Amino acid sequence: MARPGACEICSAFWVTGLGRAETLGVSDEFMAEIRRCRHCGAYWEVGAFSHPKVITRAQATRELPDLDRLEQGLGIAFPDPPTIESG
Ligand SMILES: [Zn+2]
Repeated sequence: MARPGACEICSAFWVTGLGRAETLGVSDEFMAEIRRCRHCGAYWEVGAFSHPKVITRAQATRELPDLDRLEQGLGIAFPDPPTIESG
C-alpha cells in the first residue's frame, strides 16, 4: 500500500526490497539519507535512527541545501511529487 505522498512502487521497497528510490545525498546534520522516487517524484528521508518517511521538497532542501545540483547531476527527469497531506 502506498504511503501518503508517495506511490506504491517506492512505498513497497521497504517491504519487498524492489523499487528503491534514487539516493540524492546524505545529510550529516540530519543524519539521514535523502532519496527520490523516479516513478512518483516523492522525497524520502531515511534516517539513521528513524523509520523512512516521505518528506516535502522544502524539507529535502533543508537537509540537502544543494538539492538542485544533486538532482541535475543524476540526470533523471523526476516527476513532481504528490502532495503530502499535512496533519
Ligand atoms: Zn514513488
